[in-house]
Amino acid sequence: MSAHFALPAGDRGPPPDHAELLIIGGGIMGLAVAYNAARLGQRNIVVVDRSYLCSGASGRNGGGVRMQWSTADNVRLMQSSVEICKRFAADMGINVWFRQGGYLFLCRDARYLGPLEHNVKVQNECGVPTRLLDPADVQKIVPELRLDGVIAASYNPQDGVLFPWPFVWGYANRAIELGVKVHTFAAVEGFELDGDRIRAVQLRSTERDRVRSAAISEHNVEEGVELRQAGEAPWRKTITATRVINATGAWSPELAQLVGVSIPNRPYRHEILTTEPLKAFLTPMVTIIGEGIYFSQSMRGEIVGGMGDPEEPSSYNMSSSLGFLRRFAKTATQLLPQLGNVQVVRQWGGLYDVSPDGRPILGEAQRVQNLTFLSGFTGHGFMMAPAIGKLCAERLVRGERVPYFEENGPDRFLGGIAENKETMIIG
Ligand SMILES: Cc1cc2nc3c(=O)[nH]c(=O)nc-3n(C[C@H](O)[C@H](O)[C@H](O)COP(=O)(O)OP(=O)(O)OC[C@H]3O[C@@H](n4cnc5c(N)ncnc54)[C@H](O)[C@@H]3O)c2cc1C
Repeated sequence: MSAHFALPAGDRGPPPDHAELLIIGGGIMGLAVAYNAARLGQRNIVVVDRSYLCSGASGRNGGGVRMQWSTADNVRLMQSSVEICKRFAADMGINVWFRQGGYLFLCRDARYLGPLEHNVKVQNECGVPTRLLDPADVQKIVPELRLDGVIAASYNPQDGVLFPWPFVWGYANRAIELGVKVHTFAAVEGFELDGDRIRAVQLRSTERDRVRSAAISEHNVEEGVELRQAGEAPWRKTITATRVINATGAWSPELAQLVGVSIPNRPYRHEILTTEPLKAFLTPMVTIIGEGIYFSQSMRGEIVGGMGDPEEPSSYNMSSSLGFLRRFAKTATQLLPQLGNVQVVRQWGGLYDVSPDGRPILGEAQRVQNLTFLSGFTGHGFMMAPAIGKLCAERLVRGERVPYFEENGPDRFLGGIAENKETMIIG
């Protein structure tokens, strides 16, 4: 097998006149479905993204992959995802730096202890070797941690971290090899409906937007002028599609509105940073239940960590803030004092696509029969994509019944928030 280290740019010209399967959104979710559907023999698959691949949450996340959940179906889903992650480099010919160093959920609040014990039981019943630890056991796993206030922890040594970008590129490159057409800087602006079905999709080139932002953000006037000239022939095109997938992550409620469907997921900024590389010392991903902070050490040695802000309102803001840097630094250095001497080399922001019950929004709404949702993955869509992409393709191409999709359909919110809430959420 050949190795693929190239960043797939995607085709910037207009997509073909017709797609059997049109996937809107070239993040991990859309590309995982495209690859799996093509592998199962689906022809004429087109992926469109209004920006570059990795521009959404899939290029901005912490790369955490875990089997610790509060609900059995999520544990099982993630067991199958981890199996795919383990084989990904060999199967797809690209190094994704997957390392199973475990996840440590620290508990400093007695209110979370009962649920934590329950979750460990659920995971053990599914065959995941999670253990409930006391502070002395935690100290053996990470001697450098200061455990003030920690009363317990759960630890699964088989959880892990990966490097998200090559994972996205791996799916994209292999999908393209299998005949999938990937069009970047191509935005969906509208739909034409025929009763309860989408008949056609209206697209436009966003090349000019790219040019403008490149000129502004890079302060590179000469390049900006050159790019602006190159981008002065944007196209608009309406194409027909037999089946459409909404894989636009945090933007999926906007896209759903265009066909008159309302879904309750909302965008929330989440910020993250990376430090200079350090000698390997931190084996697991560390997080504190209910406090939003998480950090791990990548295979390149950097500490990669983020922290949600419960006060932050929903928005499409993806900028970086000093406030995040302060909050993260304070909590992280309390927990791991040696981080006080370490340089932060980069910080950035991305969007969580938050669903009200912490579970994804999958499948079709009654209102539009040929539009499949893959939305609402909150802060854990990257790790779920390998399993979801496979299940979605099996469902669409082979017509298989997938209970996970049936239980997490978009219409479940019509009667209020569902009972089966996922509570093991980080951020
Ligand atoms: C800071 C941070 C840390 C995270 N950490 C983790 C983690 O450790 N583990 C984990 O599993 N998950 C994590 N997540 C969540 C994870 O990144 C997401 O759940 C996942 O990447 C979602 O993938 P997606 O393909 O659904 O969406 P995205 O990657 O956001 O892709 C959606 C795409 O749709 C495109 N699009 C939008 N509107 C249109 C349109 N109208 N027309 C065409 N294209 C359009 C966008 O340009 C975008 O590329 C984190 C997220 C953030 C922000």
